[in-house]
Amino acid sequence: MLNSANIFNQKRRIIFSTIHDKTKGLSVAEQYLESYKAVLGPTGYAGLRAEMAFYRNFRSEFGLTLAADVGEHVDFTGTFRGRTVRFDVTTNLNFKEFKTYERFLCEGYDYKIAFFDKDDFEIVDVLDLAFPHCRHCRASHAFPFLITFPENLNRRGESTGTNDQLLADICPGCDHIEERSRFTHYGVQPISSYISEIDEDYFDKKIYRDEYAANLYNFAKKLAPLELMGIGEPYYNPTDRDGRGEWGLWFPVKSGVVERHMPNFIGTRQLE
Ligand SMILES: [Zn+2]
Repeated sequence: MLNSANIFNQKRRIIFSTIHDKTKGLSVAEQYLESYKAVLGPTGYAGLRAEMAFYRNFRSEFGLTLAADVGEHVDFTGTFRGRTVRFDVTTNLNFKEFKTYERFLCEGYDYKIAFFDKDDFEIVDVLDLAFPHCRHCRASHAFPFLITFPENLNRRGESTGTNDQLLADICPGCDHIEERSRFTHYGVQPISSYISEIDEDYFDKKIYRDEYAANLYNFAKKLAPLELMGIGEPYYNPTDRDGRGEWGLWFPVKSGVVERHMPNFIGTRQLE
C-alpha cells in the first residue's frame, strides 16, 4: 500500500521527468497533473502545482535542481546571490514556524521558503522568521545568545557559588547588544572557567570541555526561547604584547544557523 507521501513522491518524479523529456515538456506535465488531481488530494495537488510553477518561473534565474523525494522541506537547490541555497516551496499559510526548519538551519544551510500565494511567489529567508533585524544598523539579523559570567564574589572577595547570565540579541553587523533578561544560578560557570579547573595536561580535556559545552547549551535553551543560537562569555582580547587589548564577547558555542554570520569574537564596551 502506498501512503499519501509515497503517492506524492511517485507523481512528482513522473511530473518532473516529463518536464525534462524534450518530446513531452511542461504542457504534457500539466496535463498529467490535472489527471492526478483526485489521487493527490487538494493539498498534494496544490503543492505539486506550486513546485511546477516555481520551477517554470525561476529555473534559470536560480539554477534550480530538483531535490530528492520530499517530506524533508527541501524541494530544490539553487543559487541565490552567489550562495547555494535550499528552497522549500509551500502553499501553506502556516509555514512561518521556525521550528519546522530549525533542524536544517542547525546543519548550517542557507534556506529560503518560496511561498506560493494565488499566482505569485514570495521568497522568504528563514532567518527572517526567527530573528529580528538589528534596531541599530538594520542591516543584519540579531541573534539570541546566552552570555555566561564568571562566579559572583561577595564584598570580601569570597566566592558566592552563583553566576549571572544575560540573554541578549547580538548583532554581528554593528556589535549592538540588546538585553532581553538576566538570570542568576548556582554553579553555571562559563566554559573557560570550567576548563581552567581541569588539569592542563589531562588527556581528555577536550572531551570534558565539549561535554560541558553541550550540557550548558541544553541548560541555556531552557531559559531562552526556542531559537537560542549559542553561548557567549566576556573575553579580553589582547591586541599587542604589552597586554593592551579590548574587552568583548567570545562565542564558544554557536548553532549551525549562525556559524557563518557570527564572528568568534566581538569587541564591546557595553557589558558591565
Ligand atoms: Zn546592528
